[in-house]
Amino acid sequence: MTARPRVVVLGRQGSGKGTQGMRLAGQLGVPHLSTGDLFRAAVRAGTEVGAEVDHLLKEGLLVPDDLVIDVVRDEAERSQWSVTGYVLDGFPRTVAQAEAFFGTPHIDLPPEATSHGAFDVAISLDVPLAEARRRLATRRVCPVCGTIVSVDDAAVEAIPCPRGDGTAVRRGDDRDDAIDRRLALYERETGPLAPWFAAWGRLVTVDGTGTADAVYQRLVDSLAPFVGLTAVPPH
Ligand code: ADP
Repeated sequence: MTARPRVVVLGRQGSGKGTQGMRLAGQLGVPHLSTGDLFRAAVRAGTEVGAEVDHLLKEGLLVPDDLVIDVVRDEAERSQWSVTGYVLDGFPRTVAQAEAFFGTPHIDLPPEATSHGAFDVAISLDVPLAEARRRLATRRVCPVCGTIVSVDDAAVEAIPCPRGDGTAVRRGDDRDDAIDRRLALYERETGPLAPWFAAWGRLVTVDGTGTADAVYQRLVDSLAPFVGLTAVPPH
């Protein structure tokens, strides 16, 4: 058990890792860090990094490893991850990113012994491909508060946000061609990370189907031995 848990969430797009990761971070009292959010914020702010990644995000392609590693290292230092702990969502997404940050299983020391890149446990949220594709095609996001809503009919582009005055819209990369590209890239580039984390002896696999509450309960049950979580608080 650890005072400042460090958790990595893996799972294909549409597996619910953003939703579950945010709730988990809230319960653990650690920051939730999404590289996708970091890149989207850079695009909105018109930074140099934003200009470099804008078209990659729109097309559903991966940002090159070197750039991702630089951005994450800067953020780790700025936010003092070694002090605060974290729930990481969307990083690492390739074995090269994982090794740059956490070292190499069987060669390096256990993860808690490394300097900036330690982790306690990785969770793999499992959702079948067809279900993930359906979730992405029907999800709409409020740009004002970030609330995610699901529409019944994938042809519906926008829906009033249930939490405020905003309108939830389709994310730029939740279009059929980009969805297929992202899911295929996930299989190829990120799929190998599950056995990679398992090689450290720190991977838990959680069934990501069913209601968000049911998934969260499973997740907390599986994590308990690693990060000292007990009961699911009221949501
Ligand atoms: P999703 O997982 O649904 O594709 P994210 O918000 O996690 O959404 O990421 C959005 C986009 O940001 C990705 O399609 C990719 O272009 C870029 N991205 C985020 N994290 C990484 C990463 N670790 N490596 C490479 N590209 C990334």
